[in-house]
Amino acid sequence: MLYYSTRGMSLPVSAAGAIAEGMAPDGGLYVPEKLVPVGKEELAALAGMPYAARASSLLALYLTGFAPGEIAACVDEAYGGGKFDHPAVAPVKKLAPGLYVLELWHGPTCAFKDMALQLLPRLLPRALARAGGEREVLILVATSGDTGKAALEGFRDVEGTRIVVFYPARGVSEVQRLQMVTQEGKNVHVVAVEGNFDQAQGGVKEIFADPEVKALAARLGCRLSSANSINWGRLVPQIVYYFSAYLDLLREGEIRPGEAVNFVVPTGNFGNILAAYYARQMGLPVHRLICAANKNNVLTQFIRSGIYDRRREFYRTISPSMDILISSNLERLLFEVSGRDAARVRSWMQALKEYGHYRVEEGVLREIQAVFWSDFADDGATLETIRRVYRAYGYLMDPHTAVGMYVYERYVEVTGDTHKTVLASTASPFKFNSSVALAVMGEEAVAGRGELELLELLSAFTGLSIPAPLRDLARRPVRHTLTVSPAEMKRAVLEILPAGGRG
Ligand SMILES: *Cc1c(COP(=O)(O)O)cnc(C)c1O
Repeated sequence: MLYYSTRGMSLPVSAAGAIAEGMAPDGGLYVPEKLVPVGKEELAALAGMPYAARASSLLALYLTGFAPGEIAACVDEAYGGGKFDHPAVAPVKKLAPGLYVLELWHGPTCAFKDMALQLLPRLLPRALARAGGEREVLILVATSGDTGKAALEGFRDVEGTRIVVFYPARGVSEVQRLQMVTQEGKNVHVVAVEGNFDQAQGGVKEIFADPEVKALAARLGCRLSSANSINWGRLVPQIVYYFSAYLDLLREGEIRPGEAVNFVVPTGNFGNILAAYYARQMGLPVHRLICAANKNNVLTQFIRSGIYDRRREFYRTISPSMDILISSNLERLLFEVSGRDAARVRSWMQALKEYGHYRVEEGVLREIQAVFWSDFADDGATLETIRRVYRAYGYLMDPHTAVGMYVYERYVEVTGDTHKTVLASTASPFKFNSSVALAVMGEEAVAGRGELELLELLSAFTGLSIPAPLRDLARRPVRHTLTVSPAEMKRAVLEILPAGGRG
C-alpha cells in the first residue's frame, strides 16, 4: 500500500514513510492509494473478536510493511495492560431506543485523543527505523490542554522517543495544568510558556524551522516531529472504533446484518469524523455522518453551502477542543469527493491560505451532502442539553458530546430519519466538570468553587466515581516547574535535545 499526497506534487511513500514524515513535502496530507473493502464475511469474523484483535486486523490492511506481530504488539501495548478502564476499550451504551453512545474516553487522559495517541507513539519509532532515518525522535507539542496530556501519556517511556509539551501558563484549566505538571515518565518534559496558546504554537513552529535546532538534531541523530492530528498514524486507529461500534450493535442484536446506522461526531479538526467516512468507504453500512459543531461553525456553513470561510470571529466556548477555524483533515475529504483531483485540492487550499475562503463546485457539494449533514450548538444549548439528557436518561455527558446530542436532535427534527444512530462521546464528563456541574447542579451550587472541589461535588451529586486519572490530582508531586517566555522556548529545546540522545 502506497500513500499519496492530497496535493499530488510529492512522490508516494510507504505506510512507514507516511507516519515518519507526518505531512507530505508539498504541504499535502498522505492518503492511502485505496480504501480497502471489508466484506460481510470479514465483518462477521471481526464481530467475534475483542477490541485489540479487531484493531490489529483492520490496521494490518493499511500498515503494510509492518509485520503482523509488530502491529499486534503495538496494539496490545496501546490498549492493553489496564491503561483503559473498560474491558471493551471503546464501549457502546444504549441511551434510548435506536440511540447509542460510543464512549471514546476510557483511556489514560479521559478524552478520545487517547484512542490514537496511545498507538501512534508505538508505531512511530518502528516507522522511523523502516524509513531508514534517525535513531531517536523528539516530539514537540504546543497544547491548549487536551492534546498535550494525551501525547505525554502516549509517549511516556516509549523507547526511542522523547517529548516536550509547551502549554500557555494561564491558558489551561486547573485540572489540565495539574495533569501535565504531575506527568511521570523518563522521557517527558513539560514547559509553561508566559503567553497564550498562539504564542506557544508560534514558538514551536519557529523551532521546527530553526537552522540551529535542525543542525543540532541532525548531529545527535534525532528527528523532530509533531505527531499532530494530520499524521496518518493518528487517523488510522480511529477507523477501528467505528467498525467496533457497529460490530457490538450486531453482536447484541440491536441491528441486523447489513443495516445502515448514522454516526454523530462532535467535530473540530475533522479527524474523528473523517475516520468514520473512511469506514463507510470501506463498506461499513453507514447512512449519514452528522457533523456537530459549536459556535465556531465553519464546517456547518461549508457542508450546507460549499463555502469554506475562515474570515470570522473566533469564539471561546465550553467545548474548547472544537474551537477551530481551520479543520486540517477536511483536505482529505476534499481529495476523495473531488475524485482524487489533486490539482483542485491545491487550488482550494491555495485560496484558503491567500484569501481565507474557497467554494467547491455544485457536483462536489452534492457528493458531500449525500453523506454529511451538519448543524451546531451554542453554549446555552450545550448546557441545556447536558441538563436535559441527565434528567431524562440519567446519563452524564461532557459538553463536546452534548453538542453532538443537540445536533442529532435537530437532525431528526429536520429530516425525520429513523436510522439507528451512534453518538461519538469524546470526553469524560469529569474532564470538563465545571460546565457539567453548572448544567446539572445549577449556578448556586457551583458558585465560587474551584475545579478540584467541583470534581468531588459532581461525583457525590451523580453517584459516579471520578476516573482514576483525575483523582488525587492535587496530592500528586509536581515534577515540571520550568516556565519560559515565548522567546526562550528555543533555548529550552536546545538544552533538552542533547540530554537524552546518545544513551
Ligand atoms: C479533539 C477533540 C474533538 C474534535 O475532534 P477532531 O478530530 O479534531 O474533529 C472533540 N471532542 C474532544 C473532547 C476532543 O478532544
